[in-house]
Amino acid sequence: MPAGFQVWATGEWQNAKDILTSDYFARWEKAHTSKEVISIFSENELKTSEVFKTSEVSNVAFRFKASDVPDFAFAASDHYNWDANSVVVDDKTGRRTFVSAAYNTASTDYPQVAKIAADGIRMMSTWLPGYPFPYPVMTVFNGDDGMEYPMMCNDVSTAPRSPMGLTLHEISHTYFPFMMGINEQDHAWMDEGWAAFFDYLLSDSLSNHTEGGVRDYSSIAGTENDVPPMVKSRNLSTAYRNASYQRPSQAYFTLLDLLGYEKFHQCMTEYMNRWKGKHPAPFDFFQTWNNASGQNLDWFWKPWFFDWGYPDLGIQGVVNDEAANCQVILVERKGNIPIPLHLVVEYSDGSKETFHQTAAVWRDGKQNLRISCAEGKK
Ligand SMILES: [Zn+2]
Repeated sequence: MPAGFQVWATGEWQNAKDILTSDYFARWEKAHTSKEVISIFSENELKTSEVFKTSEVSNVAFRFKASDVPDFAFAASDHYNWDANSVVVDDKTGRRTFVSAAYNTASTDYPQVAKIAADGIRMMSTWLPGYPFPYPVMTVFNGDDGMEYPMMCNDVSTAPRSPMGLTLHEISHTYFPFMMGINEQDHAWMDEGWAAFFDYLLSDSLSNHTEGGVRDYSSIAGTENDVPPMVKSRNLSTAYRNASYQRPSQAYFTLLDLLGYEKFHQCMTEYMNRWKGKHPAPFDFFQTWNNASGQNLDWFWKPWFFDWGYPDLGIQGVVNDEAANCQVILVERKGNIPIPLHLVVEYSDGSKETFHQTAAVWRDGKQNLRISCAEGKK
């Protein structure tokens, strides 16, 4: 690079000590073990020519080293700010990931990004997907897109909106398609569906339930743009987004509810252990989860991923059960895609009761459910 430019890239930076002056090298080193976000340099500092050892216009070689990556990306700037911190991603070994944000001063959302990224990586490592983050480095670079690369994201400023959803979405792609090689041209739902699922759950949790946004499936379900995800992505046009993001992420939410966190996490871990560094295709996913859950989930996979249709439940009516002295709500399965039942009943005395059934109630092809209300109440 010409003098005056910093480079961020896939991999660990090998020759920082040769390029940064001692003060800035000390900040960079400190950030590798710091939970708090440290400014490696600001735009103003970068422009004072105190940051680099050489101010000559000459070739400066930045060296990076990476393993287990299917691709390489780099970015450079002579005026960006650089924030960094670090996070433990594996409690057993104490292994950390060095997390950076490199950004334009005009991007007013970006000072939050390094912390959001580190908090998100911690949750990915310990909660969902609940698998230690595989890379030693992650840099969110302020570009003009929302795009994932190994150890890098190219993310537009979302100001005045929070950068949380975009940051977490792109970083969560580390698992799919980089740690697990996914063929996006054929089966985009095998990575975008997961990234949409993680970004919702992680954003919702990190922001105390204010940031998350389930990408809307209900308005598309059953329309001509609701194509079964198993149709190869390369053949989809306007139906691509729903088949890759909305519908599969809803399938994964339904699956989490169905299996419960412990079993869901066990299946995810098994899936990752078996297919890390390889190229799982759809049947590898279905069969690994069937096997790891100890259940044949084909009744679930088929309608969600192979069939045309939509999820829909309806209330047929309320009847009296005189023998049990209670009222019974009759629920009808109107759509073929299995979903959980969330029902809030308000009684005439003002009290409320919540009923929940996972999608498993529809496993055996049942078309109706009877929900018995509290005794004596209307
Ligand atoms: Zn994505």
